[in-house]
Amino acid sequence: MKILVLNAGSSSQKSCLYEIIGNSLPDRVPQPIWNSSIDWKSKQLKITTTEIEQQIQLDSEDRPKGISQMLDTLISGETKVLNNFEAIDLVSHRVVHGGTEYNRATKIEPKVKQAIADLIPLAPIHNPANLEGIEAIERLLGNVPQVAVFDTAFHAEMPLETVVYPLPYQWFEKGIRRYGFHGIGHQYCAKRAAQILNKPLKELKIITAHLGNGCSLAAVKDGKSINTTMGFTPLEGLMMGTRSGSIDPAILIYLLREYNFNADSLDRLLNSESGLQGVSGISHDMREIRAAIERGDRRAKLALDMYVHRLKSAIGSMLPSLGGLDVLVFTAGIGENNPIIREMVGDGFEFLGLKLDPNLNNTATEDSVISSSDSSVKVLVINSAEDWAIAAQSWQLITNNNNNF
Ligand code: ADP
Repeated sequence: MKILVLNAGSSSQKSCLYEIIGNSLPDRVPQPIWNSSIDWKSKQLKITTTEIEQQIQLDSEDRPKGISQMLDTLISGETKVLNNFEAIDLVSHRVVHGGTEYNRATKIEPKVKQAIADLIPLAPIHNPANLEGIEAIERLLGNVPQVAVFDTAFHAEMPLETVVYPLPYQWFEKGIRRYGFHGIGHQYCAKRAAQILNKPLKELKIITAHLGNGCSLAAVKDGKSINTTMGFTPLEGLMMGTRSGSIDPAILIYLLREYNFNADSLDRLLNSESGLQGVSGISHDMREIRAAIERGDRRAKLALDMYVHRLKSAIGSMLPSLGGLDVLVFTAGIGENNPIIREMVGDGFEFLGLKLDPNLNNTATEDSVISSSDSSVKVLVINSAEDWAIAAQSWQLITNNNNNF
């Protein structure tokens, strides 16, 4: 079965094509046969196949046009991997917000599209981009089955005390509650950790740390998310690349009253100008923060120390509801590639008996254990493989086969 995955972000559109042969999913994450991404800011389209890598400059900023130009590279030019679009059996979309209704991968029908549209006020950048992708496929591929895999779904069954904000209860009833995000990745990493450790997922108390430009933790018990750091929006929780994470909400009231901020300027401040970028004044990118620290930059060092402090505090805050910790997983750009941050976090939990193996930590490649054999907590690095998780979940839905994922 050939599955096309569309993963729309705020500033990018990624897509890849997987082929699943036979009646079960492969044990290891397969290489996609075609992989592409559009950076909307630079209008660059990049395509990789098993044979070739190509960059194309898009002629306009029009997103539906850009998506169809991207998909055309599947069936024409040097990157051609299919004779026609009919060869695609299934299209799956990462949809950022599924609200409270959608707690699993769902076949896209008119009412699901309507629900994604109704949730636009809660995900004003992402849900419209997801709808654009769904509609582009309808135009180009006609009646191919489409599946939505929701980033909120894994967290949809968190206990009420985790979900409700301490505001007057009527706001909860109006939908102001904690939803959580990055769920596809957290769920995948928890399952993959159990697979690597050869233990039943249900027996493990796991914290997954997704540390990319956006950062969040999930606490997983009995295979379910029982807590996560992102909330009503992906702004809550950890310090991130350009997002502040949690701050005293009275700061916003103060800025509104004393500095003439409004909704748009607050949005910009908190989502685009804060986090590593805001504190360091140098970059949102952890690689550049580290390079600046090596040059002796004090604000870059402060940004790193704050990032780790907040990360450790958030991990600590999840321990009581988990009732302990068996596994800590690091994933995404920083989680997978930054041994120093893993070491700094690990040091904070030595009192629990968590011990990293310095050699394994420094040389970790994809999907490996980096704790020492006598560590009380297994620490793993896992490639987030979000696109594969989206493909696999939709394959399971369509084939009604829950075998090994
Ligand atoms: P996104 O959340 O946009 O998918 P990523 O998961 O790629 O982002 O994470 C971006 C972060 O990961 C950046 O701070 C970057 O510095 C860091 N990162 C990505 N790749 C590497 C690498 N090879 N070495 C060190 N850090 C990396």
